[in-house]
Amino acid sequence: MAEGTLILGGGIGGVATANALRKRLPRSHRIAVVDREPAFTLAASFLWVMTGDRRPEQVSRPLERLQRKGIEVVRGEVERIDPEKREVLVGGKTLRGDHLVVTLGAEFALDAIPGLAEAGHTFCTLEGATRLRSALEHFRKGRIVVLTAAPAYKCPAAPYEAAMLIDGDLRRGGLRDAVALTVYSAEAAPMGVAGPEVSAAVRGMIEQKGIAYHPDHQIARVRGQRIEFTNGAIADFDLLVYVPPIRPPRALRDSGLVDESGWVRVDRQTMATRFPGVYALGDVTMIPLTMGKPLPRAGVFAHGQAEVVARNIARAVSGKGHEASFDGHGSCFIETGGGRAGFGAGDFYAEPRPAVTMHRPGRMWHMGKVLLEKQILWQWL
Ligand SMILES: Cc1cc2nc3c(=O)[nH]c(=O)nc-3n(C[C@H](O)[C@H](O)[C@H](O)COP(=O)(O)OP(=O)(O)OC[C@H]3O[C@@H](n4cnc5c(N)ncnc54)[C@H](O)[C@@H]3O)c2cc1C
Repeated sequence: MAEGTLILGGGIGGVATANALRKRLPRSHRIAVVDREPAFTLAASFLWVMTGDRRPEQVSRPLERLQRKGIEVVRGEVERIDPEKREVLVGGKTLRGDHLVVTLGAEFALDAIPGLAEAGHTFCTLEGATRLRSALEHFRKGRIVVLTAAPAYKCPAAPYEAAMLIDGDLRRGGLRDAVALTVYSAEAAPMGVAGPEVSAAVRGMIEQKGIAYHPDHQIARVRGQRIEFTNGAIADFDLLVYVPPIRPPRALRDSGLVDESGWVRVDRQTMATRFPGVYALGDVTMIPLTMGKPLPRAGVFAHGQAEVVARNIARAVSGKGHEASFDGHGSCFIETGGGRAGFGAGDFYAEPRPAVTMHRPGRMWHMGKVLLEKQILWQWL
């Protein structure tokens, strides 16, 4: 009996795959999305929750809505994956697919740095962004530190956008002069994967706003209101904002899908794993680039890869169409505060290094990000 396509994860990659596949295949082809959460949340909008420009309920949608399009939604924890048999254990029950798409994302390792989660706030979860909003609302003067707790994290632009949006928020409240705003990054430069020009442009944007920037600072621990870095430096804060380290989802362990890094290795054009009929895409994958860094973990790539996987599954089922290939193109809006954003776009598979162009901040790019948000929240779910 045909068992259709089983999609593990109802985030950007999972929902994009399900929609793209539904458009191409009749309802006789079963599509099921499995997620532990009842709702899809749009991480790109968490920064606006942090600034008070969005309420939490405005950036999430019940996953159940997919059922109106003929996409089954299974709520439950993916406990084990057997890619050989294309079987998955969800809440003690075994599910099977003719095609399996693994799009479980990256987990936040909130406990990786002693003292960090207790002392700081993160805008990387909806709950965290909501709490941070309240902390910012009550903040009147002092030292705000924004830091990345590891060199690799989701969305390379996010910490720099966060710092600029906090700057904008403080200016809006007439408090900027009373606050010292500093960014410490574990990485050597902002958005290094996009090349030295983009990196310098982003550094210029934050420094122009009077935000101090200290790269190459790996946090070791937080004691009280003091951060200790591995290089011996210390920094005191009144409000600490952090981007957590990430790790591969637990469900992947012992699945045979991961390499020594713990992430899923795929063919970078088709997102196929070494198991027939099993694909992986988005943050759960590790795609090395010649320049030494992996393809960034960003929704724009998860979306592009999802379109390719959906087209190729539809082709396998219907026998129609050409094989699709992911070409490494991606773009990102970089919010700079005051209703403006920059825009970076390019080919991340270009050799010997990604070819990315950065456009100067303006209102148009900010509107572009708002339109993308509306499109995802209103058309996808
Ligand atoms: C603050 C912030 C801002 C960002 N801004 C941007 C941006 O502007 N542009 C951009 O391109 N990217 C942005 N990103 C990155 C983007 O959100 C991610 O790269 C994208 O969501 C990855 O999609 P994914 O489908 O791989 O994983 P996710 O969207 O994380 O989805 C994974 C899903 O799997 C589910 N799951 C995981 N494990 C299990 C399990 N065992 N059982 C059941 N369900 C499970 C999760 O609940 C989740 O719904 C941002 C990220 C953050 C944190």
